[in-house]
Amino acid sequence: MLQLKHIFKSYKVGDNITHALDDVTISFRDQEFVAILGPSGSGKTTMLNVIGGLDRYDQGDLIINGKSTKNFKETDWDAYRNNTVGFVFQNYNLLPLMNVYENIALGLRLRDLPRTVIDSRVRSASSFLGISDILSRKLRAITDAERQRVALGRAIVCQPKVLLVDEDFARQNEDRRKEMLHDILRINSELGITVLYVTNDLEEALSLNKRIVYMKDGKIVDC
Ligand code: ADP
Ligand code: MG
Repeated sequence: MLQLKHIFKSYKVGDNITHALDDVTISFRDQEFVAILGPSGSGKTTMLNVIGGLDRYDQGDLIINGKSTKNFKETDWDAYRNNTVGFVFQNYNLLPLMNVYENIALGLRLRDLPRTVIDSRVRSASSFLGISDILSRKLRAITDAERQRVALGRAIVCQPKVLLVDEDFARQNEDRRKEMLHDILRINSELGITVLYVTNDLEEALSLNKRIVYMKDGKIVDC
């Protein structure tokens, strides 16, 4: 469903050019779980951002469900980001003064959906993640483990086709990481959402028994 064809992306800082993605060609199937590994600076985050439509590639093509994105306008990228991808960011971008329900519902904010539909989506995402009983709590009144689930709830409430998870959360403590990974594996297997999971933990990636993609110097070295 997702194909990257000869994708190039570089960053210029002063006179310095970094080839963050250097001729990347790779495909991801529907409902696949893929662990993405590689040293720091190898282009993992850039690839995720390009796939998620947060950043634009310079050359090549990203094909989504058979459709080229070469001529995508900003509105097409917006629609793609809102309808097809879910992200989990390191700090989760949650709003501390809002309650759990409102934070999850934010994932649907840009859509013109009836209240009842929003309500049922928030409830089913919360129930899937086991946080139905804390919907009215303020974010500052819940635990880190719960906050992590709220972030996942927000990412899946829009029923994305792909969930993008960057390694940053991996810097958290071991228990949090394990819980997060467990939830993400369920999101993949039970909801059928494709997951691209960037990690810096080789052993963990191997233990998952899933496809592993290695990156180095902006290239895919093995997949
Ligand atoms: P990874 O996630 O594997 O650590 P990144 O995709 O973040 O790698 O970075 C790939 C390369 O691109 C690195 O050399 C990094 O310094 C550079 N890079 C990433 N983002 C930017 C940016 N916004 N401006 C300049 N250079 C960047
Ligand atoms: Mg990174």
